[in-house]
Amino acid sequence: MTLNGQPLLFYVYFLNCLSYLASLKEWVTLDTYISTFCMRNYLHSRLLSLHGLFMVTVRIMSIYLILFIILSYLVWIRCIYCQHRRAFFKSLKHVMNVLSSRDTNCSEISALIVTAHPDDECMFFAPTIIRLVELNVSVHLLCLTEGNYYKQGAQRKQELLKSCAMLGIPSSSITIVDHNKLPDDPTAEWSIPLVSSVIVKHIRAHSFNLVLTFDGKGVSGHANHRAIHKAVSHLASTGQVPNDCSLLSLVTVGLFRKYISFLELPISWLLPSCLCCIVGSRGYRQAKAAMLCHRSQLLWFRYLYITFSCYMFINTFQMIPQEPKNLKIY
Ligand SMILES: [Zn+2]
Repeated sequence: MTLNGQPLLFYVYFLNCLSYLASLKEWVTLDTYISTFCMRNYLHSRLLSLHGLFMVTVRIMSIYLILFIILSYLVWIRCIYCQHRRAFFKSLKHVMNVLSSRDTNCSEISALIVTAHPDDECMFFAPTIIRLVELNVSVHLLCLTEGNYYKQGAQRKQELLKSCAMLGIPSSSITIVDHNKLPDDPTAEWSIPLVSSVIVKHIRAHSFNLVLTFDGKGVSGHANHRAIHKAVSHLASTGQVPNDCSLLSLVTVGLFRKYISFLELPISWLLPSCLCCIVGSRGYRQAKAAMLCHRSQLLWFRYLYITFSCYMFINTFQMIPQEPKNLKIY
């Protein structure tokens, strides 16, 4: 090695050092990059798993919340039913005592259900009839047609007797009107004075002190149902009803409420009414058996009605206001 060779050696050594440092930097950069990439993926996957865990928790909590709401609603319905069984007698007495000055017992109540067609009694009034019969109230039925729209009057009369027997009304307490001016026809306009006179004669002849019928919408909207309400309202407004006779109309509920079965109970219970009649599963079976007595009417939609109609479980009534009878005008 010469002196001239020393700078060359140093130069070569310097270059080696630089290349080493360069290679080291590359490795460090690559290593850092790989580490960062892995960390990011790791964190990303961790975040994904945390998000997934959160969503699963939310879903489970939602299912529990829905189950809790459903169970609470069912328990509420059960509580309403139990409360109703205790309060029904009191509310019935209250209705009877609104017009009467003296305290009325159940055995003194003589109730008349006024309907238009055979099957109205079980389709719409079954809970009321069942509850009144349970309290030993004398329940009667006045049906204003034989249900002869499809010329099946004779058969439908027999079906009505069977249905009433199932609900607890004896055949001696059933009156079926067959008047040529009161046809079973949704397009027929019944004479209100005629219907009024038929009803009031029956009320006076048997001294009924409680009359229950349709309201102005007729529950199903049938013209014959609405005509009965108009006739009873006419009697009430003209003071032709005996002093101690209470008149009640069955409340028509909207389409949604009508077909949610027993789930409708809390709504009717909360809304103001003067009388509420509710039956449980035993009463429902009784109402269903009465419905099945009307064999000539058992088309497919009747089975849907039996399954989903709230009128198989609950009836609510409003008082039909009456004009004071002994009003003296000076
Ligand atoms: Zn009807």
